[in-house]
Amino acid sequence: MSTTIVNVGHRTVELFNGFEGRFFVPGRGEPHKEERPYGQLVFEEEERERSQDVGWGDRFPRPWKVRDFVTRLVNTRDVQGAFGSLFDHGLFVAAGPEPTPEELAAANERYNAWLRFSLDEGKAEYQQSGQLRFVNGTAKLAATVLGEKVPWAETQEETQRIPCPNCTEFIPISMAVHRAMRDGTPCGAVIDEEKALRLKLIPAPVMADADPAPKGRKPASL
Ligand SMILES: [Zn+2]
Repeated sequence: MSTTIVNVGHRTVELFNGFEGRFFVPGRGEPHKEERPYGQLVFEEEERERSQDVGWGDRFPRPWKVRDFVTRLVNTRDVQGAFGSLFDHGLFVAAGPEPTPEELAAANERYNAWLRFSLDEGKAEYQQSGQLRFVNGTAKLAATVLGEKVPWAETQEETQRIPCPNCTEFIPISMAVHRAMRDGTPCGAVIDEEKALRLKLIPAPVMADADPAPKGRKPASL
């Protein structure tokens, strides 16, 4: 029997990163532009046998039972009630090959509870620090999904990215000047000249004959 891991959240979640590789469970897509009611990752096999020497005469793993392993990983509630587990974030291992409406409803309930919790956390953080950068990404996502008008909500400008015309690295659409690439390589492309001038990110252009009536020349008297 196959094992289906379901994600009713919006974002893609990394399930685990180990000897077997990296596994991701896709989400629903962008808030309010959802591509699907839920994302899923399906393991077709029941057991994975991979004898890999990890040193010290040890071999990893023993054949791992896929369903047991992912069920332990995913179907566990955060014991401290801090919404820290994948289960609390709207993921679950379906009992059958397809999730049932009941399973999906319960997962959506957990996901929404997590979003409301994160939104409250974000509000408290912003109230205390007044700093956008201290508000975490989940709180911003929550504000967007729940349609809450907060000054720190994720805007389209923040999430939409375009390739830089100079170096092709993806940059926020609202960026005026791309100063340097992520690895520190300088770029310097001016994306939005008007905005860059307004924010004084680039020097104002020197005009050759900016002053129509320079000093020393009297206007013609009538
Ligand atoms: Zn660039």
